Parts: sequence; C-alpha cells; structure tokens
Amino acid sequence: MDIRAAIYCRISQDRGGAGTGVARQEDDCRALCARKGWDVITVYTDNDVSAYSGAPRRAWQELLTDISHGTVNAVVCWHVDRLTRSPRELEDVIDLADRNGLELATVTGEVDLSTPTGRMVARMLGAAARHEAEHKAERQQRQRRQAAEAGRIAGGGRRPFGYEDDRVTVRPSEAEIVREGARRVLAAESLASICRDWQARGIVTAAGIPWKPTGLRRMLASARISGRREHTPRGSWERTRPLLGEIVADAVWPGIISDEDSDRLRALLSDPERRRKVEGDERRSYLLSGILRCGKPRADGKPCGTGMVGRPRSGVPRYVCPNTPGADSCGGTAANAARTDEHVRDMLLAALESETLMERLREPDDTGSELYEEIRVDEEELEELASDFGHRKITRKEWMTAREPIEVRLERNRAKLANVSGSGILLDFIGSFEDMAARWERMNHSQRRAIVTAAVRSIVVAPADPRRRWDPDRFIFDWIA
Ligand SMILES: [Zn+2]
Repeated sequence: MDIRAAIYCRISQDRGGAGTGVARQEDDCRALCARKGWDVITVYTDNDVSAYSGAPRRAWQELLTDISHGTVNAVVCWHVDRLTRSPRELEDVIDLADRNGLELATVTGEVDLSTPTGRMVARMLGAAARHEAEHKAERQQRQRRQAAEAGRIAGGGRRPFGYEDDRVTVRPSEAEIVREGARRVLAAESLASICRDWQARGIVTAAGIPWKPTGLRRMLASARISGRREHTPRGSWERTRPLLGEIVADAVWPGIISDEDSDRLRALLSDPERRRKVEGDERRSYLLSGILRCGKPRADGKPCGTGMVGRPRSGVPRYVCPNTPGADSCGGTAANAARTDEHVRDMLLAALESETLMERLREPDDTGSELYEEIRVDEEELEELASDFGHRKITRKEWMTAREPIEVRLERNRAKLANVSGSGILLDFIGSFEDMAARWERMNHSQRRAIVTAAVRSIVVAPADPRRRWDPDRFIFDWIA
C-alpha cells in the first residue's frame, strides 16, 4: 500500500524541552517518514497556546477531512499529546482509523491504532497528556500567587480607577476622587448617596460609565488603592470574586490612600451590620427613625423601648411607636417629625460645642491604632499557621483548632475598628455652633444620620403630656461620648 502521510504539528504553551518548537516537531516527523519510506503529502500546523481552551483548530479540521476523503492515509506527529487534546478527539481519530485504515506514527514511539493494544497505548498517552494539562492549570494558579506575592500587577481587564493604563502610574484627578470616596465612606455616608453626588458632578468610572454602589464598594474595599497586592485563590470556573482577598504583599505601584484607611474601609464595607445601618437608611426619609425609642411605660413599669418609625398623619410627618398587630410595640407614643429633628439637631450642636467632648473624642484614636496592631498580629499568626500546615509541621486538625480563637478575635476587632471611625466623623464635624449649623445645612440625610449615630446611642421619647403642645423635655439623650 502506498502511504500518503500528513505531518501534524501543534504549537502549545508551557512545555519545555524537546517538541516545543514547531520546526523541531516537523523535522523529527520528516525524518521518521523518511525512515519508514512514507511520502509526506502535506504538513498541518495549529497554533494552539491553550491546549484545553476548546478553541477550534483549523488545521486539525482539515486533517480530519483529508483523512475521511482518503487523500491522507497516515498521520505523523511528535507525540500523541500533539495530535489530540482530549479523549474525545482521540476517539475520533480511532474511528477514522477503523473506517479508513489510517496509519499513525509518532516520533516518541510507535502507536498502532489498528490493534487493541495500540489503541490502549494511545489512550493512556492521551490520558497522561490530559493529566499534564490539568497540572498546568494548577501551576498557573501557583504562578498567579507568586506574582501576587511579589506585588506585581495583575493583567487583564480595564485599567483600575485612579491609575493610568500601565496600572502603576497614579492619575491625580481620579486619585483625588478615590480619596474623597474613602473619606465619605469612613464618615459613614452611604455608597448610594456618594454615587448620586458623583453622577450629578459627571464623575465616571474607568469604563466611562456612572458609578454604582456595587462598583464603588469594590473599588474602595480593594487593597490596591493602598498600594498593596491582594490575592484571591480561585478556580477558573469561579466567576464571582469575594469582596476581600488576602493581602499578600506591598505592590509595585504606589498607594492612593493609607494602609490604615484601607483597613478601616475593608472592615466597614464588609460589615453586614453597616450595610443594614448605613445603606438601609437610604430608603428612609426620616432622620431619626430607629434612633428614637418609645418611652411609654408598660404594665410592668419598664419603658416600651421600641424603635420609632416615620409615619405621617394627615400629611404631617411624625415619628410613632408602630402599632403593629402581634408585635411587641405599644403604639402609644408619637412626635412631630420636623420639630423633633430640629430639637435633636440643636441638642446635638450644643453638646458637640464643648471642649471637653472634643478632648475625649481624640482619645479613641489610640484605641484605633492598638486595634489595628492587634489585627495585624492576628493576621500574621494566621498566615504562619497556614504556612506551618503547608510545610506539614502541623496537621490539618491542629491548624483548624489553632485558627478558631484567632478568627473569632479578628472578627471582633475588625468590628470594633469599624466603630472607632465614628469618633473620626465627629472630629471632622466639630467646630463653633455657627460652623456646625452651617455644615449641617449642607449635609444630606445620610451624612446627618452619620453624625447623630456617632454621638448618641438612642433618644428615648416619653409619651406626650396632653396639656403641652410641644415639650422638649420628653427627649432623653443617651450620649456615646
Ligand atoms: Zn411603644
């Protein structure tokens, strides 16, 4: 039988040594054909850098067509793993061999597809190649981690906001916006409120579209803007990324905000409690809902204590103890919303005007850096434990057991750190009564609420005295500072 051989070469990434270069593959295959006395009809070459990407291989398709037409009756390749990328493709070749009496030769060894043993060998070689490709995916993950640990830039996607296309150079105009966003979130303003303001000012993302709370949250929670490299180990099948990755190194690019601010932002933005308190407030138009507590005594003499909500009557906004059937609230207290808001503002400004309060507010900053330090130490300890486990110095069980108390403490300290920023809000706000009154006027709902919640735990509202129309003495403040 006269043999019309086709040489098939495939370029693929990440295989060192012999067989990598396509010229080498072709030379070796031609030499083999010469030894066997086969005529080389044609050479097919596919450029296929990712072996299991599933991208179509044009030359491969042509080869299959030529085999089925009988133009080609032998295939020569360097190794079986050059020929097929998956068991299914190999079965296609075996089918063709069955129907058309195809000969197969590889430089690295004889594979006879016409005998059961030859096919078994081919299948095993294919399986080994598959195994190799899977290892490759693992190796790439390791390389991603190494790149992260070296603080190098992560490629792909759009440039990060605040940086130029090289991902390293800071773009000053956007950096200013990043700092503004960080400041406002740390002052407990809601993401939605910031986005609305930025939309009004025409500030857009790196993609040129208006900012949305989810995108803003991600940007401000990323360690990138503090010049630190974050890494999230994940499989290629995972499409969503958790908000916080692991900070593995100082990055090669400069930070826009400080490490400490970044840590506070990350603690705040990942805190579900904040979401409820700050973002949830967006939907409320009543400044003090939830902060005011119903003070009407129950049968046992203790106050009702239910958080009052905004509910207008005859179009007049009021705060009321909700009268919900089946609920624990008494429904016995109500207060005019506009007058209450005004009264609370005046009390607040009067309280914040004092020098001693300002002194006291300055103190928690130390607590802040102490917490920050404790968090650092705990994070390092977790890393060490992970490394000990990685190096088999401890068992998985020991690792898990040792982790638990540290993680509990970390959780608690991160929540505390998020709270410390409350005093920062007040420090930024405090001034003379007139200054504060002017600032208050310029503030939106969410900013005002941040001030109130930073200063008072709650305000208990006693039931109205029917003889007095407006009674400021009904309000009892539980000050934080
Ligand atoms: Zn009540």
